[in-house]
Amino acid sequence: MPDPPSGYEAEADDQRWMRRALEEAAVAGELGEVPVGAVIVRAGELLAAGHNLTHTLGDPTAHAEAVAIRRAAQASGHWRLLGCTLYVTLEPCAMCAGAIVLSRMPRLVLARLIRKPACVARWPIWCAIPS
Ligand SMILES: [Zn+2]
Repeated sequence: MPDPPSGYEAEADDQRWMRRALEEAAVAGELGEVPVGAVIVRAGELLAAGHNLTHTLGDPTAHAEAVAIRRAAQASGHWRLLGCTLYVTLEPCAMCAGAIVLSRMPRLVLARLIRKPACVARWPIWCAIPS
């Protein structure tokens, strides 16, 4: 496991919530989707969860992070997801990175970076846990 970059500050529940995101990824895999999962947590509580649904919904924007962000905005009643942390099992694509910025979430925890040129490899918060 690589060392996290400077700036990463682990929180006590990071691994717990990443395991929950991995459960979402498994659900996506069972559906024949690319197995990516995401959860959004605020004040130690699960606000929303999502997994890839692009094939299921026929929606090219139904990535795990986008699904979770939409659900979190609905659950919270506001599009600004201040005070939230997004846990995602794979580094977000350009679309999802933009959605994360627009949602104002201050913290992102990743399980894994992709090897090709990436969007958020230099995001200030990053985490890796054993799978
Ligand atoms: Zn995406």
